[in-house]
Amino acid sequence: MRSRYTAYHQGDIDYLIATYHPTQRYGGQRAAIGQSVAATTWLGLRVLAIEAGQVADSKGVVEFIAYYADPRPGQVHERSRFVRQKQRWFYVDGDALPPVEPKRSDPCWCGSGKKYKACHGC
Ligand SMILES: [Zn+2]
Repeated sequence: MRSRYTAYHQGDIDYLIATYHPTQRYGGQRAAIGQSVAATTWLGLRVLAIEAGQVADSKGVVEFIAYYADPRPGQVHERSRFVRQKQRWFYVDGDALPPVEPKRSDPCWCGSGKKYKACHGC
């Protein structure tokens, strides 16, 4: 899941397509992802919960918030479903969740190491 965030951040479209579950691929996907990658500056990722469980599990759920800068700062808050096949995790789909405002004393999402209130929270 982090690796997919990194791929969005770096514009690695091949990796994003390769980690979609085969049932979730569609014509025009490459162009759609390319547009999204080109239009978005990602600022940071916060993983809230991982419900993957045991090594033997073949399904995982990850709740995360990914922060972006434009056109104005915002976030994607999602609970994503993954399945594992042949030792690899694939993204299936996710539920969009309402935005979460960080607490003022939380570490800032941008990775500065400062508290939110002293960084992007003002
Ligand atoms: Zn910050």
